[in-house]
Amino acid sequence: MKEITSSEFETEVLAGGKVVLDFYSTECPPCEAVAPKFEGLAKLYGNDIKFVKMFRQENKPLAEKLGVKSSPTLLFFENGVQMANTLSGGIKRSDIIHQLDSMLTSERVKKIKKDIKPTVSEFDVLILGAGPGGLTAGLYLCQSKVNTVLIDIALPGGHVSTTHEVSNYPGFIDPQPGYMLSHNMSEQTKLCGTVYKVAVDVSKIDLEKKEVVIDEFETIKAKKIIIATGTSPNLMGVAGERELKGKGISYCATCDAKYYGDKEVVVIGGGNSAVEEADFISKFAGKITMVHQFDAFTANKQAQEKLFANPKISVLFEHEPRSFAREGDKMVTEVEDLKTKRISRLVSDGVFVFIGMKPNIDMFRDKLELDGWGYIKTDEDMRTSMPGVYAVGDVISKKYRQITTAVADGTIAAISIAKELN
Ligand SMILES: Cc1cc2nc3c(=O)[nH]c(=O)nc-3n(C[C@H](O)[C@H](O)[C@H](O)COP(=O)(O)OP(=O)(O)OC[C@H]3O[C@@H](n4cnc5c(N)ncnc54)[C@H](O)[C@@H]3O)c2cc1C
Repeated sequence: MKEITSSEFETEVLAGGKVVLDFYSTECPPCEAVAPKFEGLAKLYGNDIKFVKMFRQENKPLAEKLGVKSSPTLLFFENGVQMANTLSGGIKRSDIIHQLDSMLTSERVKKIKKDIKPTVSEFDVLILGAGPGGLTAGLYLCQSKVNTVLIDIALPGGHVSTTHEVSNYPGFIDPQPGYMLSHNMSEQTKLCGTVYKVAVDVSKIDLEKKEVVIDEFETIKAKKIIIATGTSPNLMGVAGERELKGKGISYCATCDAKYYGDKEVVVIGGGNSAVEEADFISKFAGKITMVHQFDAFTANKQAQEKLFANPKISVLFEHEPRSFAREGDKMVTEVEDLKTKRISRLVSDGVFVFIGMKPNIDMFRDKLELDGWGYIKTDEDMRTSMPGVYAVGDVISKKYRQITTAVADGTIAAISIAKELN
């Protein structure tokens, strides 16, 4: 992979042909995750598209001029013209392939795809999901000298990486930024020697055979599998929600609250997440209207007291959203008063939805015994109903879903497996 500097940009990138340029930084986990994918694709597409990389910190003025705001960022050029699509952050191999394919003829793409050689690798344990549960299992297995691979469709960290502050994880006197806590957990497991395959597409999961296919052509086999895939936010199922997801409707305050400085937002929900996140959003937004279906919050008393004392927040109890729409740069939420059945319009700059979570089990739903809510049933050693398949963390059937309980599950599964394998 050729590394270039700003002074070579004209001759190496702008001089003509098709070029992809990777702006990377040091101490950047997403850059480390994308580097092997970039190298691998350079071998496949290298005859048609030139692959180069540039160290962002030492080429800052050029990076800024090209609109690079985070690392890694991949820029694509055709005959000296920068293309509109750029990729940044936790970039998946399929995202890069999609962009590269769009630069070539379909015949050429077909020919390149024919040359892809599928690979197979073998491990003792395969962990699906690198949140606190999966990371802890990876750490314990690695320290027991069990050959382990951690696979995640996103970057490591799970929900903790997008939680603004964690004040109840033991061992820290002050509240910790979630991204720091998850970064430390991830580095500890990685430094031990657990193999990471992150920001990948999981194409197929075969729990019986203990095989997972990632990025279409890479098969990973193991003796045991640990499912640590956690949960995802529930959608409301209300008109306009799917279309406006990420375009005015958000499910993550840490990710998006900062874009609402002095603006008006609507927050939907009434449990701990909704109440705590509304309080966090009020650090940025000027006015918050909460919409909750019941006549009281279900969040804990301490969180409620803080919320009611916050002058920026007002609450519509016994109301439910009926539709979302965009009018110019405003969001319109139609809400129904459940007592009077009257519909009214809430005009805001953005909407946050916090109405609970659902387990991430879509790729193996029919294979395992689940509880009535769709969570995976396990025994006290975290074994599922299928031999050799374990499950830990928020995805399992249990009463309390916290970082500490996910970490505990990961510990138990890893110790049980290490004993079995020995
Ligand atoms: C907004 C919010 C605030 C919170 N605040 C706190 C707090 O202050 N204190 C506390 O103790 N707990 C808190 N929690 C709960 C805590 O974050 C979870 O209990 C914990 O993260 C669960 O860890 P996990 O490893 O089971 O799952 P997760 O953290 O959900 O991680 C699951 C991982 O699996 C990956 N994944 C999903 N599907 C697949 C697939 N098919 N293949 C491979 N990988 C997959 C995901 O990308 C993710 O990285 C909070 C949760 C939220 C949502």
